Amino acid sequence: MKTSHTVDEARLGIMLNDLRLPTIKTLWPRFAEQADKEGWPAARFLAAIAEHELAERAHRRVARHLAEAHLPSGKTMDSFDFDAVPMISKAQVMAMAAGDSWLAKGANVLMFGPPGGGKSHLAAAIGLALIENGWRVMFTRTTDLVQRLQVARHELQLEAAIARLDKFDLLILDDLAYVTKDQAETSVLFELISARYERRSVMITANQPFGEWNRVFPDPAMTLAAVDRLVHHATIFEMNVESYRRRSALEAKRKRGRPAAYATIKNTPLIDAERQTPAEENLAGDKHGDIITDAAT
Ligand code: ADP
Ligand code: MG
Repeated sequence: MKTSHTVDEARLGIMLNDLRLPTIKTLWPRFAEQADKEGWPAARFLAAIAEHELAERAHRRVARHLAEAHLPSGKTMDSFDFDAVPMISKAQVMAMAAGDSWLAKGANVLMFGPPGGGKSHLAAAIGLALIENGWRVMFTRTTDLVQRLQVARHELQLEAAIARLDKFDLLILDDLAYVTKDQAETSVLFELISARYERRSVMITANQPFGEWNRVFPDPAMTLAAVDRLVHHATIFEMNVESYRRRSALEAKRKRGRPAAYATIKNTPLIDAERQTPAEENLAGDKHGDIITDAAT
């Protein structure tokens, strides 16, 4: 006897819709048939369709989170050549991709280095891995987000706009130092950083170290306050390597496996001091204030 003969299938379909169980709705006839044929205990049938519903739900969730993240395409961990950035520990990055330890407490990641060194690629790759692990991430050029927040501010909706970003465990602000002078005249970026402080994480990439960030915020005091909040719980990646593409092109030309020379960029003492270490561990007590002051002047 087929189970389907003993129930009102149309009504069952409606109930499964109401319960928002689309996968069970699709799969149950096939599973029921198999269960009947093979004499499964009822509990096994129930467990099987429940597992499928859960798996499909997780799959849909990741797809939704990927769509809202606006990650640049093709920038994955697999396609990132860690040998090109010897100062970055692959193990540390992989641990970071799990997310739990830092996202839960709203810690930040700051990536510094000259153009082409792989900051955006690495940031996007970490973002992608986090989404696959169930976190919500948004990747944006900093100038684009600042522009959006400025519009919200004009409409007296800044607070609401910033609150809407709370759904993202991680905001990746790419190219912070490219914020233009007119954009810097408003404090929306500072408002965003303050609102997320110790609650929601931010990952920032920048060609310019802290010392140059005075162009990004309306005044030096605000720069100082922003940097202070950002570094309080932060891991800093200093990616002082020559442009990856330029290097690849040169290496192809040389046809030799000689490592490229490192480009030199002016670094603040803070960045040197914080290389690859969770900043908070090194910023104990009043030392904190001193370092920030040094970095931002
Ligand atoms: P940045 O953001 O630091 O300016 P990008 O991440 O945009 O640099 O890198 C420039 C280009 O070089 C991108 O196409 C990126 O995928 C590639 N690239 C940079 N570093 C690496 C790397 N270590 N491994 C693989 N590709 C890289
Ligand atoms: Mg970039």
